[in-house]
Amino acid sequence: MIYLDYQATTPLAPEAREAMLPWLGGPGSDGFGNPHSPHRMGRMAKAAVELAREQVAALLPAGGRVIFTGSACEAINLAMRGAPGSGPIAYSAIEHAAVRDTAQAMGDAYELPVDAAGLTDPGTPLPAGARLVAVMQVNNEIGTIQPNREWCRKAKENNALFLSDAVQALGKVAVDEADLIAVSAHKLYGPKGIGALWVRDGVELAPQITGGLQEGWRSGTLSPALCAGFGAAAKLVNEALDRDAEHVGTLWKHARTLFGGWELNGSAEARWHGNLNIRRDGLDVARLMSDCREVMFSAGSACASGSGRPSHVLKAIGLSDAEAKSSIRLGFGRYTTIAEIEQAAALINAAADAQ
Ligand code: PLP
Repeated sequence: MIYLDYQATTPLAPEAREAMLPWLGGPGSDGFGNPHSPHRMGRMAKAAVELAREQVAALLPAGGRVIFTGSACEAINLAMRGAPGSGPIAYSAIEHAAVRDTAQAMGDAYELPVDAAGLTDPGTPLPAGARLVAVMQVNNEIGTIQPNREWCRKAKENNALFLSDAVQALGKVAVDEADLIAVSAHKLYGPKGIGALWVRDGVELAPQITGGLQEGWRSGTLSPALCAGFGAAAKLVNEALDRDAEHVGTLWKHARTLFGGWELNGSAEARWHGNLNIRRDGLDVARLMSDCREVMFSAGSACASGSGRPSHVLKAIGLSDAEAKSSIRLGFGRYTTIAEIEQAAALINAAADAQ
């Protein structure tokens, strides 16, 4: 099988797996302690958690703290529902469902438009009295990189908090300033089931999960294994930032040539190049996916796939329903090879030509 769905999730880095093993802890081992217990085993587990916290924090701005959560979805819910104040929530039209659905469920939600390239404009007026502005740093469907430094400044000028969903950005591009930043381990070669919320010093949140408040504003026993895996993955990605980006850039150039007959969705430049979202007029994507079962790729975003609804991101950049439904997303990263891209392109192009 050829895996080209790196926006959905990434393979676990061997280094992250290695870091997790001691904390999976069977009977007789000393790696199963509760990190919130005061005894020696508990303190050992806590030390692993705190090392991981430092490793994740090293990828994020200074002047804040990292709160571990069970996922980025949870981190985003804590940020949005736990943030103080009242007034509208402004979010970009291309936000992940984690932000979009939460804003809509909370009410008084205001959508900020994007242009045809999939970019937001920080010159866009905010609704009066906005309390929170949420713009993702890198989009999960089309890979476009948003001007979040400017958005953060704009939010500040309007006395609003700024939330950055940096799930697809962490370990790929520099994460810009924000008040709240949500991240997830499994998008950067760490394990599934752990995310984090970075909270700027001075920002206070209301807990959304009560029952111990082990993480200050979040309750629940942390998994030292998942934390250790997240930390090791963060450390690795920090060291490999330039190497990963260069590798992905090479794959991107090659893939663009191989898929020359396809239209690109979203900006080619302001983009994480591990994302190739392309379309071909009249393409039946469901049939294509069934004809190319050896290649793991996505129709639109993994979350919307199978819903039958055209992607809200592709609609927001001005594509028709038919264009959105004839789009596919290929995602690649650290462990993807040129040979895999070539094989996948041959299979996908042949199947598309045969339609
Ligand atoms: N935000 C973005 C941009 C994502 O791509 C995802 C995952 O697909 C999430 C949030 C949710 O992350 P998690 O799986 O950790 O809940």
